[in-house]
Amino acid sequence: MRIVHGLPEMRAASAVVRRGGRRLGFVPTMGALHAGHLSLVREARARADVVALSVFVNPLQFGPHEDFARYPRDAGRDGALAERAGADLLWMPAGDAMYPEPPSVTVAPGPMAEAYEGAVRPGHFAGVLTVVLKLLNVVQPDVAVFGRKDVEQAALVRRMVLDLDVRTEIVVAPTVREADGLALSSRNAYLGADERRRALALSRALAAGVALYRGGERRARAVVAAARAVLEAEPGVAVDYVDCVEPGAFVAAERADDASVLLLAARVGATRLLDNVALGEGLEGDARVEG
Ligand code: AMP
Repeated sequence: MRIVHGLPEMRAASAVVRRGGRRLGFVPTMGALHAGHLSLVREARARADVVALSVFVNPLQFGPHEDFARYPRDAGRDGALAERAGADLLWMPAGDAMYPEPPSVTVAPGPMAEAYEGAVRPGHFAGVLTVVLKLLNVVQPDVAVFGRKDVEQAALVRRMVLDLDVRTEIVVAPTVREADGLALSSRNAYLGADERRRALALSRALAAGVALYRGGERRARAVVAAARAVLEAEPGVAVDYVDCVEPGAFVAAERADDASVLLLAARVGATRLLDNVALGEGLEGDARVEG
């Protein structure tokens, strides 16, 4: 695995792959790599000849009082994990290489970015889409893999690529969970032992919604209420939102169907966590860490 830092170096490495007629796959991350990220590398590997993974904690997508400064960073560990997962190129741009000056032109993500995560974190998705577009412009991959764990982000990236005619194919891969159901997240590292236990309320809430749906309930409101009740019953867990949406447009559904996504965000102590499930698939549709 080759590690590159500068943008020109990454551009040159990508050009070599494309000139050789090989397909380039790309997995953008903010590092603190875990089995969820590594499953995206494997997914990219299955669809491309060469896989590039980027690690960049993007300041543009953090609000002023969010965790940018304390976001976990460990380049050595990320390098070892990326290599073991089969990445060929690891791109670790420095902040001032990515943004030599604060960008004046950014991506406007449109109305889909104003609900859910976008409502709680104003400006977040403009920051995400701006960095994703920059990364795609430098890497120019044939295919890029994102996680369904961040389902609203994945929908917005798909929409950006469609609306702005980006040449990259976008693949969205299943959420990877711990054996007990907790979705892997770099932010799980913030959780103390007691919080880690309470955080299981998120996947339990999704399971409760799925169970009601499988029992024949089709009113989205009732499915959402079942999930919300589980979260609200857990002390130390504060709900930001729970809803059932149509996956394409990200608007609240009235009738739940197999494609509907039950999504939620909650704070466990000071840590914000997200999770979601497609009602038709249930949590069994997701992957589990091995071993
Ligand atoms: P992040 O490093 O949190 O920005 O995430 C980088 C990519 O990994 C995004 O496409 C995420 O959706 C994806 N990802 C994060 N957690 C998981 C998970 N548990 N399972 C699958 N993909 C994930």
